[in-house]
Amino acid sequence: MSLDRAKTVALPNAEALSTDLLYRTGQHKPAVDLDRVISLWSDLALVREVLDGDGYLVDLGAHGAEIIVAAHGNRRRTRYTIAHELGHWMLRLEQVNNPLACGTQSRSSVVEKWCDLFAASLLMPAAWLRSDLRIAKLLGLPSYLLHGYKTYDVSEQAFWLRISQVTPLSIFKVRMTERHIHITEKYESPNVRQADLKRALEVFSSTVVTDARPHLDSDTNFVGIAAVYQESEDKGTHMLCIFPRRQKTEKWKLDGFKERKK
Ligand SMILES: [Zn+2]
Repeated sequence: MSLDRAKTVALPNAEALSTDLLYRTGQHKPAVDLDRVISLWSDLALVREVLDGDGYLVDLGAHGAEIIVAAHGNRRRTRYTIAHELGHWMLRLEQVNNPLACGTQSRSSVVEKWCDLFAASLLMPAAWLRSDLRIAKLLGLPSYLLHGYKTYDVSEQAFWLRISQVTPLSIFKVRMTERHIHITEKYESPNVRQADLKRALEVFSSTVVTDARPHLDSDTNFVGIAAVYQESEDKGTHMLCIFPRRQKTEKWKLDGFKERKK
């Protein structure tokens, strides 16, 4: 089997697979219990060992598989690793008679990206995040973005990345010095016009971060809202969230802007 041929194999829908697993284990709210997901299969085991890396899946052939993770790793990071390795397990299940399962499992970047997407969708289902955002509304948004990762028991980076991927929200960590504004982390949503996002970021990064009220940029019709980044000892670090005021194609929207407008 040529490599090119193997690459053309369609990977399953990660979102649909993870939704199904949560349904089958009766899970409707965060944080997702990964042990319940693993226990769906009698031939899949989770083993904690002293490791250099984060973890991996050991294929035991007819005897199933073991997910090996670092015994003393950061809990949230380990949860993500387990979910990622569950992705490899799902591919193994889905593609038993499939070129990708020939010999050793392909560790191509396509597969790794799929497993990352699977992990994110299992730990942070898009429907749950969108529901949270509807409930938080605009005024609750900064607090949700700053603290929501704890509820999902994932890393803050994984949380912000996932939100930017499944909503029109873009999130930036911005550090202010006396003269300059540095973006130290960025999670740009692929669901918005990139030119508008870029223009709105230029406007908001210099104005919005100084207060916690939502601002509207009438040029791009983007809303910007910021908050002091609580976890940081550096008082000059802020979280900045930017998104289009309304996007008719999206089912969810953040209400509350009108009330804030004079
Ligand atoms: Zn992997």
